[in-house]
Formats: sequence, structure tokens, C-alpha cells
Amino acid sequence: MNLSTRLNSTLPREILMFRKSLFLPALVSSLIAGCGSTSQLDENAPAHHRPDGTFVNTNGEAISKSFGALLKWQRESPDVEPITLPSVPPQLENLNNPKAAQVTWIGHSTFLLQVDGLNILTDPIFSDRASPVNFAGPKRSTPPAITVEQLPVIDIVLISHNHYDHLDKDSVKALDKKQPDNPPQYYVPLGQKAWFDKRGIERVVELDWWASAAVEHVTVHAVPVQHWSSRSPFDRNKVLWAGFLIDSPSIRTLFVGDSGYSNDFKDIAARLGEVDLALVPIGAYDPRWFMKAAHMNPEEARQVVLDVGATRAIGMHWGTFSLTDEPMNEPGERADATGVIETPKPGQTISLSVDD
Ligand SMILES: [Zn+2]
Repeated sequence: MNLSTRLNSTLPREILMFRKSLFLPALVSSLIAGCGSTSQLDENAPAHHRPDGTFVNTNGEAISKSFGALLKWQRESPDVEPITLPSVPPQLENLNNPKAAQVTWIGHSTFLLQVDGLNILTDPIFSDRASPVNFAGPKRSTPPAITVEQLPVIDIVLISHNHYDHLDKDSVKALDKKQPDNPPQYYVPLGQKAWFDKRGIERVVELDWWASAAVEHVTVHAVPVQHWSSRSPFDRNKVLWAGFLIDSPSIRTLFVGDSGYSNDFKDIAARLGEVDLALVPIGAYDPRWFMKAAHMNPEEARQVVLDVGATRAIGMHWGTFSLTDEPMNEPGERADATGVIETPKPGQTISLSVDD
């Protein structure tokens, strides 16, 4: 479907922004607000905090594309065939009693990371669409390999940013409902707590880049990545985005979240030390002229793995929703070709013990 078809539709504009156009709200708001404010920074504020209350990347820039660029992308974008990745049934007994550190890809950017007695869920999305509404928006073509009901008790949930394919209201509500007496502890980027407050979810800590929190014997560090935030045409970059370094006694894991390739990864290793495992995004990269700043491709993801010194890496953010122009199976094939990024099937549990 091209943009003119979409604009001719009677659907409200906020709904038109979905499928490939997860990026439209930001573009619309930049038309309204103007791009690239150059106002003076408060000397005492971190460089990524702007005086107008928005955030920028560590290079000092907000990711911004003109409306003309958006139109060009939409005009030229091919129809992408949905695929359903083959999955394996979850090993529920193992998930409830892990013998060692392990990780299971549930789909998109959702992992169940089990380390040192803690069950950690990343960017949980179990819904059929990555959208504010259930009748439009990017549709899921690979179902979640594990249902919310099948999950073990979740201790920690990490939210990298507020795009609909990473912060999903129905999934958060379902997790809350499943554990009414012992809800998970959420770690979210700066400014995101208010969203949870509105929904009565109280165990939420927001972290600025380089801030950390200790949970039992595990430390969660929020780290900079190159991206942006938005859930409506009016809230561009008003909350922060982040990756997380999970430093546990048995393994150090970097969950990148959503990011373009940048110097942030070398900085993370320099400031916090190298990691053992990197969970890296490998999809949503085409066309490069439009996506490169916000989404790395598999070869750039390989460079991230090298930058952070990870001895193992697992690809994510592919094969689940069709968001951009590349064929849905291509990220997995190109990640496999790097020789350093594993692409497990949804539902497959990977043991992370050092002997493996
Ligand atoms: Zn995103």
C-alpha cells in the first residue's frame, strides 16, 4: 500500500502512521515543532538533556527526517511478504527451574533472560499488533513462542523505549494481572515512569544514561544508544531511550534495545567493561538512507558485538513484525553470515554457562 492510498483512507492520521510508518509521529511532530532546536544547554545538565525538556543522542542530534523524505520512502517502499519463523515449544520445566544462566528468545525484542536466580524480561510484546489500536498497525506474523501465562514468575522487566513494538500496553497489563501480589520490578528510561503511574503500576524505576540500580546481587545499568522516542505526534523525544547492561555474578549481558550504529558501544565497554553476551537488533534497516540512524543492520550489529567484546551474541528485532523494506527473513540470513551472531528459533532456550 502506498502513502496516497493511506492518506486517502478515512482513518485518523494517528492510525495511518502504522505498519511501516512507526516513524511518522516523530515526523509529524517535527513539522509542527520544527527540527533541530539549537537553544543553549544548561551548563549543569547532561549534554543529552535539552532545555526544552526533550532528549538528544550522544552525538548531540535528534534523529529527524523531513516529510518529503517520508513521502519518498513510502512511495518507493515494496510490499513485504509476511513470514512465520519456525518455533520450538518452550521447555516449561526448564524455564521454571533453570540449572544455569540461560536465555530464550520469545520474539521481536522480547527475551527471557534467567541469571543468578532472577527472571528478566526485555521489551515484552505478546500482542498481535505493535499499535495503540487492535485493528490497524504492524501485524505480527510470528506468534510469541511463550504466552504470558506460561512465563515463570518475572522479577525484572526492562523497557528500552516507548515505541509500540517495545512498550506494549496489553502485555504490561497482562504481566501485572498474572502477578498481582508480586509484580515485576520495571526499569525504564528517564521520563517513562509517568506512563506506568497512569496505569497504576508502581514498581517502576526510571534511569538516566549511566545510572544504575542494584537488585539483589545484580546491577542494571542504563546505557546510551542511538534512537528516539514517540507514542503520538506530540511527544517526540520527551522521554529517553536506552540500552541496559545487566551485570550479574555469572554473566554480563548487554541488551541493546533499538539503535543505529554509533560510538556509544565503544563508550559502554570503556566505561563499564566488556560484556559476555550481547542481545543485538538486526532488523528494520532498509532503506538505509532513511533507517540507518535509528536501526543497525546485521553487519553493524556484528561491529557492536566486537565493540563491546561480547563472546556470544543473539539477534533480535526481526522476523516478527514487518516494519521496514527488507524481506523479513533477510536479517536472520545476514546475521548468520556474520559468523558471530546467533539466530535461535523463537522458544529455543540457549544455555549461557561458560562450558557451552
Ligand atoms: Zn524504536
